[in-house]
Formats: sequence, C-alpha cells, structure tokens
Amino acid sequence: MKLQRQLFTEIAIRNRVAELARCLSSEYTKTGVTEVVALVVLKGAFVFAADLIRQMFVSVRVEFVQVRSYEDATSPQHAPSVQYLFNSSIFSGKHLLIIEDIVDSGNTLVALLDSLPIEPPFFPLSLKVCALLEKEVFREGILDGFHWLMENHYHVGFRIPNEFVVGYGLDHAGLYRDLADIRVLEGEENAS
Ligand code: 5GP
Ligand code: MG
Repeated sequence: MKLQRQLFTEIAIRNRVAELARCLSSEYTKTGVTEVVALVVLKGAFVFAADLIRQMFVSVRVEFVQVRSYEDATSPQHAPSVQYLFNSSIFSGKHLLIIEDIVDSGNTLVALLDSLPIEPPFFPLSLKVCALLEKEVFREGILDGFHWLMENHYHVGFRIPNEFVVGYGLDHAGLYRDLADIRVLEGEENAS
C-alpha cells in the first residue's frame, strides 16, 4: 500500500470544516437551539470533530461511540459492531449531532442509527448527521428508512471517488491519522 495523490489540502479542509460549522450552527440557532450533544464516531472522526466543534457557535457536549468493521483492511471484514461509551440517557431532551469521518456503503451509519438508544424515554429532541466525506457509491437505497434524516439533517464536507483515503483522522491499519491532508492510498490490497 502506498500513499498516492493528495485529494484535499490542509487549507481546503480547514475552509470546508469552517463552512460546515457555520451552516450547522446557524441551523441550530435559527430554531432556538443553544446546546447540542455531539456523538463522535471513533476512531476516524476524532480530528474532524475536534476542529468542527471548536468553530461551532452553539455549546457542544461531547460523547463517543466506536463502530468497527474494517479492522486493518481497506474493505469491511464483518458487520459493523457498535460499542457505546456513554449512558443511554444522555440524549434525552437534547439535540443530537452524529459526527462521522466517512460514509461509504452507509452500513456503518445504518448500524449506528438502528442501535442508538433513542426510543422513548430516551429520545433526543432532534437528530443531525455531519460526515466529512461521502463516497460517490453511496445512496443506493441503504438509507431508505431514514429519508427524513438524509433530506434535511445530513451534511457532508466533500464527495469523493470510490477510492480508499487516509489522513486527517482516517487510517489504514492504524497509520496516517496524523496527516494534515487527505490522500488516496493505493496498492494490491485495496479492495474498495
Ligand atoms: P460504510 O459502512 O459506510 O461502508 O463505511 C464507513 C466506515 O468505513 C467509515 O466509518 C470508516 O471507518 C471506514 N471507511 C470507509 N471508507 C474508508 C476510506 O476510504 N478510508 C478509511 N480510512 N476508512 C474508510
Ligand atoms: Mg469510521
């Protein structure tokens, strides 16, 4: 596996994250919301989330959830497994913002949404999803049950080709999360 071309520079990422933060914050403030709970999907979204929440102009509480399916490969190795690192009641009466690194097939997002403890009595007042990246292969029916969410409450930073990317929090086998830019990783093992 080799690092290949750069998809997004550090500056392009910074500008887009600032726009997302402004857009989300103004949607919240327009509807009178002054505080949200960000649910950060580990590990890949931690860098994005750190930059995003610091530029939002509403108060943000932060919680984490881990969803795994890739292990050390470049395609899913098993169905997404969701591990909560929070107490079910934290979303009750709160505005929930899920922060994800990348939506590829959508399986991870569906697994997370399906398993969130957001049924009564634990329901949040609102739900939004903000993903930094989305692959162009996404949106073929998988999120059909979530039209209401995807149409008005889903934000994405950049749409990208169907290639395996690393950097800015995204890894391959634990490496490259510390890159400031986003790059394509290519090699024999790349099955995505
Ligand atoms: P999905 O379940 O939507 O197919 O894939 C979403 C998850 O797979 C992401 O949260 C991320 O962990 C991982 N993933 C998907 N595509 C990529 C990619 O291009 N690069 C990296 N590093 N992870 C990816
Ligand atoms: Mg992930």
